[in-house]
Amino acid sequence: MAIVVLVGPPGSGKGTQAKAVCEHLGGVPHLSTGDMLRAAKTAGNLEQGWVDLMASGGLLPDETVIGLIEQRVANDDCAGGFLLDGFPRTVPQAEGLARILGERKTPIEAVIQLDVPRELLEERLVNRRTDKATGQIYHLVYNPPPAEAQLVHRDDDRPEAVGRRLEAYETMTAALLPFYENIQLLRRVNGVGKPAEVTERMLSALSV
Ligand code: AMP
Repeated sequence: MAIVVLVGPPGSGKGTQAKAVCEHLGGVPHLSTGDMLRAAKTAGNLEQGWVDLMASGGLLPDETVIGLIEQRVANDDCAGGFLLDGFPRTVPQAEGLARILGERKTPIEAVIQLDVPRELLEERLVNRRTDKATGQIYHLVYNPPPAEAQLVHRDDDRPEAVGRRLEAYETMTAALLPFYENIQLLRRVNGVGKPAEVTERMLSALSV
């Protein structure tokens, strides 16, 4: 049973690392609140006010995302553990998670913080594109997409939203990381380097 929380600024490679770590943990589900919310939006199940809030880089209410995670981890596929990506983002969300896990009697194994300098993050986000057919993520300069890719640029990866998201991340971690540090769950991992190197560092931080 491994319950891992991945914390990192937008553009830190969290999504890519989450997939790799989930495989190493025996295929546990990768639960990304951002992906869940984007899926709800595509399915037309997200209120317009929240769609607008997401597009502008703002955070949704704590109760909403806690409810989303509570429902999701009740699924059978989460019985053997899961990796959380993008949740919790606030201390009330961390407390909500502690309550949910307390009820299941399954503690968090580790909270991994991916560290990447801000200049690198801005550059990565503004150049990030996703192929909407395959979900593959590209960087226009360092990992250019093939000609046939159906590229989308996330609304919140545009320069005006990027600054706001990075600031929201900094404000958030100012409170969230000490919360996990105090209970000895926090492990910091350098997120600069080739994806495979970063994965290795994460696995050693998890001792798996
Ligand atoms: P992400 O893909 O994790 O960057 O999430 C994209 C957007 O979804 C965020 O900018 C927020 O608007 C919303 N969101 C995702 N996770 C959370 C969360 N834990 N709390 C509040 N809002 C969230």
